[in-house]
Amino acid sequence: MLAIPYLGRAGQPLTIRFRCLLEHDHRAHHHGKYNTITGDPPRMYGVDSIHAAGDTIDVTEGELDRVVLRMLGLHVVGLPGASLWLPRHRRMLAGFNVVRVWGDPDDAGAEFTSKVCRSLPRSARGMRLRIGDVSETYKQGGAQSLLNVIKESEK
Ligand SMILES: [Zn+2]
Repeated sequence: MLAIPYLGRAGQPLTIRFRCLLEHDHRAHHHGKYNTITGDPPRMYGVDSIHAAGDTIDVTEGELDRVVLRMLGLHVVGLPGASLWLPRHRRMLAGFNVVRVWGDPDDAGAEFTSKVCRSLPRSARGMRLRIGDVSETYKQGGAQSLLNVIKESEK
């Protein structure tokens, strides 16, 4: 499995999540596509970005989409899904003027985006992805297509 370390502000490891990279029925193999250490609390991925960012921060649905936006030089945190967005995550992002939310273009992603936007009504806005999620959009259209989504959101 791919190991995804969650690092703190000073680069210290907080936890590790695991993603199975095989195309099979994960449940039949007694694990999920993503796997968390039992009893570990839901965490935001990439919290160092909170301290490095200016007045704008990006929020992705999933760790790997966070990696893609980081490659563009953005300051980004990732959440594994809508159900893991907690009140303390809202407090962590409450100081930003603009919070760009990159939910996947599917039902779960719409729930993710609307949940974050409802909890940060003044600052959060949903990004309109059309081709696919952040990673798929990058694969098909490159960095420019992601930057275009941001530009569109600023009109
Ligand atoms: Zn598996």
